[in-house]
Amino acid sequence: MKKRNGFDYLVVGAGFAGCVIAERLARGSGKRVLVVDKRAHIGGNAYDHYDDAGVLVHRYGPHIFHTNSREVFEYLSQFTAWRNYEHRVLASVDGQLVPMPINLDTINMLYGMKLSSREAEAFLESLAEPRETIRTSEDAVVSKIGKDLYAKFFRGYTRKQWGIDPSELDASVAARVPIRTNRDDRYFTDSYQSMPRHGFTRMFEKMLDHENIQVLLQTDYRDIADLIPFGEMIYTGPVDEFFDCRFGKLPYRSLEFLHQTHDTERFQPAAVINYPNEHPFTRVTEFKYLTGQTHSKTSIVYEFPQATGDPYYPIPRPENAALYSQYQALAKATPGVHFVGRLATYRYYNMDQVVAQALTTYKHLAQADKASVGMNGINGRSPTVMPTV
Ligand code: FAD
Ligand code: UDP
Repeated sequence: MKKRNGFDYLVVGAGFAGCVIAERLARGSGKRVLVVDKRAHIGGNAYDHYDDAGVLVHRYGPHIFHTNSREVFEYLSQFTAWRNYEHRVLASVDGQLVPMPINLDTINMLYGMKLSSREAEAFLESLAEPRETIRTSEDAVVSKIGKDLYAKFFRGYTRKQWGIDPSELDASVAARVPIRTNRDDRYFTDSYQSMPRHGFTRMFEKMLDHENIQVLLQTDYRDIADLIPFGEMIYTGPVDEFFDCRFGKLPYRSLEFLHQTHDTERFQPAAVINYPNEHPFTRVTEFKYLTGQTHSKTSIVYEFPQATGDPYYPIPRPENAALYSQYQALAKATPGVHFVGRLATYRYYNMDQVVAQALTTYKHLAQADKASVGMNGINGRSPTVMPTV
């Protein structure tokens, strides 16, 4: 049932998590939804826009969509057409640009060899230093390819990106990047690999384009939560901030982005070039590869990892997981507030995982709603003013 004097839901954050939940609640359940974001735009970190030169760029670094989930892909396909795109990355190592993930060509180029796939497998086996337990990112890589390749491709990049050594980071971080002995040079192997044809922001606009959804930008939810009546809250910002960091700050890694436009059609020979060992930046992205745009100029972005600044990456390591579990328990015990998304659940999630998580949360909400309608004849909860925490 619609609440005439307020919103059924206040959605904090207009990124993937917030947009998916708002769309489902409005279109799927007829709820009235207010979406607030403190930034001046929707889309969260996946926001893209045309820069001054007219080149479509991703303000918060390269976002490449890939998923194995048909459900996620079909869900998003309601709001965008797609352009097939397979992402390829080169790494600058020992004065050469070589394929990353490491594959047969990487090995042959680096060591000046002409190995076959089978020989490369044996070669990597001879370098690998098996470890009894794979706990850290160092274990994950060294146990597969040994210390030399680890030092060339992973150690420097990881230290730069995370500000700590791979031996202090969960194995899952470096394990995101596979090691191959064939010639596949794609960064991802998911069954769906495409970019929204007209960009992410256009897709988000379509998701939020509904009479039951209102969007309020440049607004911190804390400034309006006790002024605007609403039923429940979906929170997609950093979970520690929600609770005023009462158990201490959760560590996040930040980035500074240096955007540039060049008066040439092409800047570099691949969409992304990783710089594991030289320079203070980790990678350089040329957006036209990602978007397929043709333009006489080209725009690029450098990523400089930072300890402070906007939180972009949760840092997966045991002590952070322990701290997060305290916040998670508190979040579970906070009635009427649902925590969804990369920062709200402190998970190193890709976009598709956030979409899947948001769809699952919506299903639970819809089920609970049905159950309460069943019990009371109407949706039991009435709009209340959210107490500030
Ligand atoms: P966000 O996008 O962070 O949205 C949260 C929103 O909440 C923000 O807009 C924020 O302003 C708002 N907010 C926070 N606090 C408040 C408040 N108090 N009041 C109001 N609003 C608030 N994923 C991929 O699948 N492929 C990629 O190639 C990829 N590349 C990435 C590259 C970089 C550099 C980064 C940082 C991430 C990348 N990701 C990628 C991950 C992707 O960005 C996330 O999975 C996704 O954007 C998370 O969506 P979200 O809604 O959880 O969070
Ligand atoms: N990584 C690395 N060297 C590379 C690429 C990745 O050491 O050339 C490690 C690094 O720790 C990085 C992680 O693998 O943070 C995951 O890489 P991915 O490209 O998935 O990072 P993201 O795109 O999420 O920043």
